[in-house]
Amino acid sequence: MKRNKSIELYQKSSQFFPGGVNSPVRAFKSVEGTPVFITKGDGAYVTDADNNTYIDFCASWGPLILGHNNEKIKQAVIEAAENGLSFGAPTIQENELAELVIRNNRYLEKIRFVSSGTEAVMSAIRLARGYTKRDKIIKFDGCYHGHVDHLLVKAGSGLVTFGSSSSAGVPETIAKETLVLPLNNKEALIKAFEDNKDEVACVIIEPVPANNGLLLQDKEYLEFVKKIAHENCALIIFDEVISGFRVGFEGAAGYYDIQPDIITYGKIIGGGMPAACYGASSKIMSYIAPDGDVYQAGTLSGNPVAMSAGRAALSILVKDGFYENQEKRTQEFVEKIKAHIAEKGYKIYISTIGSIFWIVYGDNDKIQSPDQISKEAGKYFKAIFTKLLERGIYLGPSGYEVGFISSAHSSEILNKAAEKIITVLDEVDTEYGLK
Ligand code: PMP
Repeated sequence: MKRNKSIELYQKSSQFFPGGVNSPVRAFKSVEGTPVFITKGDGAYVTDADNNTYIDFCASWGPLILGHNNEKIKQAVIEAAENGLSFGAPTIQENELAELVIRNNRYLEKIRFVSSGTEAVMSAIRLARGYTKRDKIIKFDGCYHGHVDHLLVKAGSGLVTFGSSSSAGVPETIAKETLVLPLNNKEALIKAFEDNKDEVACVIIEPVPANNGLLLQDKEYLEFVKKIAHENCALIIFDEVISGFRVGFEGAAGYYDIQPDIITYGKIIGGGMPAACYGASSKIMSYIAPDGDVYQAGTLSGNPVAMSAGRAALSILVKDGFYENQEKRTQEFVEKIKAHIAEKGYKIYISTIGSIFWIVYGDNDKIQSPDQISKEAGKYFKAIFTKLLERGIYLGPSGYEVGFISSAHSSEILNKAAEKIITVLDEVDTEYGLK
């Protein structure tokens, strides 16, 4: 497979952007390759600048649950764009998307649209702090919440530690307001609240942690997190930027039937355009300006073109059977690969929920926290990723990224992909050993 044009374009982009990209993971650093420049997407496939096509499991990192260039979304975008791109005044499209979201969700009464997941999370944290009049927040090692200053923090060495910044440019004073705890560890959570009595505004968690592999938590643990937060008069925020509209129309809240205090959505809600939101009960949302004194605003918030794309997408997702069908095809795909792994005795673990999957090297039955991931996983991922790319399968270029299946990934396409994955695993076994 030739990628000369991508290489040329990357040389050029490196003159313009740090690392040649506008978001770090696109740079293929962890797989030591040159990024593929995409020129076109259609259904389950993307085409690169050299005219190679790939079955795409990156799906723009999650938003494209209906595949690339969905006809209904495209038409909605064209129609909206014909009337102008942005007004900075209320539009009908905002009402329509909000109505679709709120009327079909038992866990929200009001929402506020913003333009990215990061913005949604940043605003949700400010709301929790404004509501509780407390400053500290709790997050979990293994969950990602965007590049918000007080969430770009890493854990120290103890069970319960104040975060230290994980990015240059984040002041330690800000990082110190964040407590970073291990996932799936009740004792750490109890201790954090004991040590910081009446100081914690909220606990933020990805209920389906999908940014450090797919670290599925038990429902009982998620319920416990909520219970402890509430006993300490702190709010619980479900960051559903990935899981929202992915594991069900009501996201992980609906999947586990747990009512969080604040929810954030991004990715799918914009149908591939930049849109996100945070939402809560009317009471909590009344703290947001102009009703309340927690300030939050945005020039392009609720952009009519993005709202139209989101509405077109969500009106398909809300139909009966959509998610059951997604899950069924994903299961068949995963089971096919798992059967081969079992037959050969490979040390490969696959976790899956809804239409998300994650394939990782390791001898695990379950992985629920980052420390359970094999130190060798990166080396194996690099080999698997590179070989799959050569065979026309595009995964997110990092072993910590999950794969996303869209409605355009038919059983036939998934079968083809499973065959290729099986062939690649056999090759990796021959070259590096998987047993
Ligand atoms: N929260 C979660 C759970 C995410 O997965 C992401 C992005 N991957 C974000 C927040 C940030 O969203 P964005 O990249 O749109 O700012």
